[in-house]
Amino acid sequence: MQQSEEAILRLTDINKTYGGAVPLHVLKGINLEIRRGELVSIMGASGSGKSTLLNILGILDSYDSGEYYLNGVLVKDLTENRAAELRNRLIGFVFQSFNLISYKNAVENVALPLFYQGISRRKRNKLAMEQLERMGLGDRAHHLPGEMSGGQKQRVAIARALITNPAIILADEPTGALDSKTSRDVMATFRSLNDEGMTILIVTHDPGVGAQTDRIIRISDGLIVPDYEMKTQSGDV
Ligand code: ADP
Ligand code: MG
Repeated sequence: MQQSEEAILRLTDINKTYGGAVPLHVLKGINLEIRRGELVSIMGASGSGKSTLLNILGILDSYDSGEYYLNGVLVKDLTENRAAELRNRLIGFVFQSFNLISYKNAVENVALPLFYQGISRRKRNKLAMEQLERMGLGDRAHHLPGEMSGGQKQRVAIARALITNPAIILADEPTGALDSKTSRDVMATFRSLNDEGMTILIVTHDPGVGAQTDRIIRISDGLIVPDYEMKTQSGDV
């Protein structure tokens, strides 16, 4: 089927419960399809399960039932090694808090994922430098994170996510720590990457960020809200 072939992510009836004294059923049957080349946002209230969903998509966490296909591969019951291999090859992560290493400069931070691929220091620094230049950060290459603005740090983090040439970028509240002007700059960066064909999924609770994506997927109480319900809701306001 043509459409399924184009789906880079496909979730069918995904359920996730966190154990504990009182088990919490966070994802209650998520159905979702993201096509290659899309720029999509996932929006929902705090606690609605956005990060849980993103962690499953990024193979950072497992799910209890349903099926998740990533780039045609069924992501289920994987060994740690196999999960890491898929994650490193297919996914680039961007986080709200940047997650840069404070004592490493921009080039070293961007080059780090290549270290784990066994690429020589010379080659990884060259590739990292090229990636930073593409982000307009060539002149910040030897600065530490503490010497950069929030927007610059996030663009370094995006460069790091891109360095392994992933199939998809997953970003969890990437503008959550940025002011609105810087937030727009970071969104413009995502936009231009998407124009070059990169598939990007952004989790956000900021409607302004969602509005800058091509499609908004809403999650509420562990379920994706169908489009027709969204229209009814906005019609009520
Ligand atoms: P969001 O990102 O939309 O704010 P999360 O996916 O982080 O929501 O969390 C959804 C719900 O699951 C929240 O009630 C949260 O407290 C709970 N939760 C998240 N992670 C864990 C965990 N590791 N163990 C137990 N409960 C968790
Ligand atoms: Mg979250």
